[in-house]
Amino acid sequence: MEPWVADLLAWFRANPRPMPWRGHPDPYAVWVSEIMLQQTQVDTVRPYFGRFLAAFPTIRALADAPDEPLLKAWEGLGYYTRARNLRKAARLLVETRGGALPQTAAELRALPGVGDYTAAAIASICFREPIPVVDGNVARVFARRNLLRGDFRKPAPRRALAAWLTPHAAASGDPGAFNQAMMDLGARVCVPRAPSCLLCPLRPGCRAAAEGRQADFPEPPPRKALPERRAEALILRDARGRLLLARHPGERLLAGFWELPAPDALPFPLPGGRPRRVGTYRQTFSHFRLTLTVRAAPPLPDAPPLPEGFCWCADPSALPLTTAARKILARRRG
Ligand code: SF4
Repeated sequence: MEPWVADLLAWFRANPRPMPWRGHPDPYAVWVSEIMLQQTQVDTVRPYFGRFLAAFPTIRALADAPDEPLLKAWEGLGYYTRARNLRKAARLLVETRGGALPQTAAELRALPGVGDYTAAAIASICFREPIPVVDGNVARVFARRNLLRGDFRKPAPRRALAAWLTPHAAASGDPGAFNQAMMDLGARVCVPRAPSCLLCPLRPGCRAAAEGRQADFPEPPPRKALPERRAEALILRDARGRLLLARHPGERLLAGFWELPAPDALPFPLPGGRPRRVGTYRQTFSHFRLTLTVRAAPPLPDAPPLPEGFCWCADPSALPLTTAARKILARRRG
């Protein structure tokens, strides 16, 4: 084992970062945590993790989960395809492996929603496979330590870094701890701006720190403008105070969630002309930016019957709502 690996492990053991999934004896729990942590901060995931496991304590329970409780348990965490893929993978595991997780990164990688990073994290942490994780945090640490050039969002530089790290993960004797140490170092010490080099266990061999070039690595990727989408959302209640909601159409992203309907897509004519504009809501998704014009109409004295896909809802908090609907309603309440 090279000295920097020993230093990294010693730092990790001396600076524990308690997380409810760390040291969890059930690989299923580690899998759930790794999926939740994709594109989401640790502190955001904490409360969701316990609630999700309480609702779906086993792979079999997750495989049997109906849509609404599943989406409700994920509501607010974003990137909902992750929840659907988790259940899809759970169903596959029940059908093909009696509900047990495979133990190698290669087999884990074949599950829906499991990429290279997640597969490596689960296999190393739960099953001690000597395979390194490479995410943005880890890439930043080693781009600086080794003065590596390239865009680490692309597969080729990630693969090259993984190949360089593999023998070190193996030599560490505890690949799970090695990987978690690298993740923690990137998240807590070698942070994007103003890294804490004086506290860093890798400082003795770090070329960026030696040359004062921490800000030059990793190289920033070229900026890409996101396309803009515009839409409208209507706040409409009936005389009993029930809110009109529409189920989001389509197969992907927000399918199954309830949202405020667009005023021009109502299943009945709205009296009183165009509803008044009461605000604007903006949200950035991974592939586009959304601007919603929020409109409100006076309550309807008689609630018209609704076709499938719409509902008059007395308690919207009981349904899985899109983030936009949740935030717009909270803003109106506040
Ligand atoms: S010494 Fe500084 S730049 Fe180098 S790896 Fe540590 S925190 Fe990052």
